[in-house]
Amino acid sequence: MLYLDANATESPRPAALDAALAAMRVAGNPSSIHAAGRAARRVLEDAREAIARAFGGIPADTVLTAGGTEADTLALRGLSAGRRILAGATEHPAIRAIPHTEIPVQPDGTLDLAALEALLAEGEPALVAVMAANNETGVLHPLEQVAALCRAHGALLHVDAVQAAGRIAIPPGWDSLAISGHKLGAPMGAGALLLRPGLHPQAIITGGGQERGRRGGTEPLPAIAGMGVAAGLAVPDPRIAALRDAIEAGLPEGALVAGQAAPRLPNTSCVILPGVSAERQLLLLDQAGVCVSSGSACSSGKVSRSHVLLAMGLGEGAGQAIRVSLPWDAPEDTAERFLAAYRAMAQRLRR
Ligand code: PLP
Repeated sequence: MLYLDANATESPRPAALDAALAAMRVAGNPSSIHAAGRAARRVLEDAREAIARAFGGIPADTVLTAGGTEADTLALRGLSAGRRILAGATEHPAIRAIPHTEIPVQPDGTLDLAALEALLAEGEPALVAVMAANNETGVLHPLEQVAALCRAHGALLHVDAVQAAGRIAIPPGWDSLAISGHKLGAPMGAGALLLRPGLHPQAIITGGGQERGRRGGTEPLPAIAGMGVAAGLAVPDPRIAALRDAIEAGLPEGALVAGQAAPRLPNTSCVILPGVSAERQLLLLDQAGVCVSSGSACSSGKVSRSHVLLAMGLGEGAGQAIRVSLPWDAPEDTAERFLAAYRAMAQRLRR
């Protein structure tokens, strides 16, 4: 099997799994004050520090959650009192599910800054949600310019860094930043919301007052311990960028890469095969042992047209794209193996 769906979930990192297993053996609850509780608390606080340090946050202002969706939701619901929410047209469903006004993107997938400025100038204070990197195309938004516009208009900026974290350096200027553990190579079930000091989101999950009252419920300690280790290990890797570039260089004539002209994540390629549905491509590639996806649009098991590619004006192509996303441990012969399967698939389905 050739696993090329890291943007759905990264390959597990052995050291992160070891840390999760060790945390499962700690008997205490981090909220208990006895010795066992204090041992669990140490595991939790060490992970919090590692996560904050890795992504430019401060431990006391880092809320540990059960995943990226929860971190995004806490930011948008918890920080938006008295503010309009503006969100990019290619955001993940974690953001899109919350009522907002859409900021359009340009044909290359990057945010339309003039449109953002016009929306910000409309008056009422805003909370702006823009992802650092798109999960389907890997396209990076011009975050430093977005942050400057937000500052100039008194808006808060929430950055969904779920795909960018550990793969590129994340530009500063955010007020809140969402991270997900399983996209770093940790077990599923942990995430974090990093906050600019002085910001206090209202909890969306209440309960026992954990996480300084910002997220109720016993923390998922094993997954968080794994995330702490993975946060230190996930760093940009030129080897992965070279493998991805080799894939793109070897695609057959007629295949197109969405957002190719824009700055992108080094591990992601969204390939459109005009005239062939994504579903049929996925099936044949799967039969050849290659795991890729058509992006977040297939989360319910059914492939539909990608809202990301539609927002980029790709029309028909939005139902004909597969997402190739290389994991941190992609084998050296990834490009050769993928291209052999892709060429055979394209030849058969184009006939
Ligand atoms: N944001 C982006 C950009 C994502 O790609 C994902 C997951 O694919 C999420 C948020 C949600 O993260 P999680 O799966 O941890 O809930």
